[in-house]
Amino acid sequence: TVGMVALDNSDSMASGTSTSGLFMKKRGRTGDSAVSGSGFYVDSEIGGATATGLGEDIMKGCSSYEIVRLMKEGYTPQQAADKAVSELNDLLIKRRKKAGDISVVCINNKGEFGVATNIENFSFVIATDKIEPIVYVCKNKN
Ligand code: ASP
Repeated sequence: TVGMVALDNSDSMASGTSTSGLFMKKRGRTGDSAVSGSGFYVDSEIGGATATGLGEDIMKGCSSYEIVRLMKEGYTPQQAADKAVSELNDLLIKRRKKAGDISVVCINNKGEFGVATNIENFSFVIATDKIEPIVYVCKNKN
């Protein structure tokens, strides 16, 4: 999945995803990427988020909505991303002894960003009207 969250100069926000889904997926499967609240979510008054990884698990956490909800409660984007990923990861491990891949990116309506993952290395890109795109790597804290 390629997911993005954008903030423009008039404080309007958007988020979106593009995905091929999972390798060898069953015909008719719908992953998180197409589901608002799971693969993507945005509220221009607060912020936006997108997720990538195992859609069946990401949908259990409504991860993109959960991150925006946490930002609304006052969490910074980084705190919201960390909390959403670690709580869903812990829940899945408790219930099933394993968690699928979960990675998220988010920004708030001030342009502050957060990134979290439960895989070893997750690459993401930051770009602004002043800074050319730069690739960073987020490490697993779980
Ligand atoms: N999240 C996508 C899905 O489950 C797959 C991906 O992120 O690569 O369909």
